Parts: sequence; C-alpha cells; structure tokens
Amino acid sequence: MAKSFDDLSRRDFIKLCGGIAATVGLADMFSSERIAKALDLAARKRPVIWLAGQGCTGCTNSLISTENPAPASIILDKISLRYNESIMAAAGYTAERAKEEAIEEGGYILVVEGSIPGADDRFCMIGGRSFKEILMEAARKAEIIICAGACSSFGGIPSGAPGRGMPVSKIIDKPVINLSTCPVHMDHITGMILYYLVTRKAPPLDSNNRPLMYFGTKVHDKCRRRANYDAEKFLEDWNDPAQQEWCLYLKGCKGTSAYSDCPIRRWNNGKNFCIDAGAPCQGCSEPDFYPGFTPLYQMT
Ligand code: SF4
Repeated sequence: MAKSFDDLSRRDFIKLCGGIAATVGLADMFSSERIAKALDLAARKRPVIWLAGQGCTGCTNSLISTENPAPASIILDKISLRYNESIMAAAGYTAERAKEEAIEEGGYILVVEGSIPGADDRFCMIGGRSFKEILMEAARKAEIIICAGACSSFGGIPSGAPGRGMPVSKIIDKPVINLSTCPVHMDHITGMILYYLVTRKAPPLDSNNRPLMYFGTKVHDKCRRRANYDAEKFLEDWNDPAQQEWCLYLKGCKGTSAYSDCPIRRWNNGKNFCIDAGAPCQGCSEPDFYPGFTPLYQMT
C-alpha cells in the first residue's frame, strides 16, 4: 500500500519529487532537491486559490480522478490548495472566510475553472455575489493567474450557450496562463503550479498564452493515424473493421489545427486519448472550441 504523504521520510520525499517532475514533464528542467525546497516553502503558505465559474466541474474532477499517490494530490491537496469550493471540507461561511483570509494575505496563485457570463452577471452567482465580482477581487492580489480548462481560457462550451461565457482574459487586465484542454489535464495544472513554485515566473508561452512545453505541437503531428492521413486513407464507415485505424479527418477531426500533447501524454493516467479511442479530436484546446468547431463529427 502507498505511504501517506505525512509518513514520508526526507529521502522518500525528494525521491517522490523526482517522480512528480518526470510525470508532469519537468524532470529535464529542475533537480529533485530544487523541487523539494520549493514545495517545502509552499506547504507553509498553501498558496493556491481555485475559483469555479460557469463550467461542469470537469477540471476539478480531472484532478481528483488520479491514482495514489498522485502528483496532483500532493501538489494541490497536500501542499498548496487553500480554497476550492468543490472539494474542500469546509462549506458556506467557513469556506468563504478561508478565501477572504487568503486574498487578504495576497501573493497566491489564482487558478480559475469555468467561464464568466457575458450576457448577464446573474447567470453565475455564488453566495449572493456575481462570479465576475469574486474573480476581479481575487485577481487583484494574485501573483499569477492560471486558467484551468477551455472555459476559463477561451470561453469553451458556455461561450455557445445563452449566458455567453467569456474567458478570464476578457475580464482581468493582467497576464494569464491558459491550460486550455477540456477538461484541464492534471499534468498540465500540476506541472504549471510546480514550475511557478520553483521559478516564480511563467514558462515560455505561445501566442494564446499557453505553455509551449505542453502546447508546442499539433495533435496531428504526433497522431498514430498520421501515416494513414498521409496515405489518404480516411475512415468513412465506422462499421467497417478494415477502416478502424484510418484517419478520422472526414469524421470531423480537428487534430490538424489543435495544439496539445494529448497523443504523447494521454489521459486517465496515461491510458488513452480521444483519437486512440476512435473519436475525432474536437480541438478542445483551441480558441475556436466549441462554437467555431461544431458540428463536431463533420469537417468544418
Ligand atoms: Fe490528423 Fe486527426 Fe487524422 Fe490523427 S486522426 S492524422 S490528428 S486528422
């Protein structure tokens, strides 16, 4: 059985830090000792506030659906997370007070899940206040703002709904880092928080403010169906066994314009991702997702 985090010796902790860095793709950048030092400091402050607006809570779910001891559970739950209304033990006034105290102290990492209603603030109210107001208040003293998932990064599915979901960057006049898959990948959020705790700065970003270390290549470029794309073998009949491994381009695959490391990193603890499960890439990491890419199962 895995040891609990609190039972770990210093040597085991440093070893664990090495494992975490490897999982989230930072092993080539930082030593285990450097990561351990940054996490020690973070544990004394618990510097992450996680807000949730218009969304399905899929990004929080992405984090908690992990194996034990998972990097996400260690970095967020044990070391850094001070407020997340979906998974924290406290509720109501106690939870709100924890958030207010953290905001008062300042110097935290603000993670935002979900979009902000553009049509009317009343589409997303929490404790009698609009999410927009809560977000603006929390953003003022944040050291860095990380958008977890498509909704907070670019609007996502709520941008096509009556509430007209907007991204954080349209509301907050500060730089943001977008981790834009739908939902956020646990390695992306864990790795990004870890990167910031170690360096106190953002990693190199693309033109959509996404870390190049996770969003530097197109899905299409690493897809194992790519050889069939090049050979012009395009799946047309889902029921034909001979076509099962063929390219999904004619079925609406957006991998040719979507940037993400899904084919290498994969999902569900590295087990699979959309295309290998037989579903076309829906381009969830892109600003055009969702309204610009629909209908999802047709070429657009
Ligand atoms: Fe590209 Fe999609 Fe075809 Fe893969 S399935 S080769 S990502 S078009």
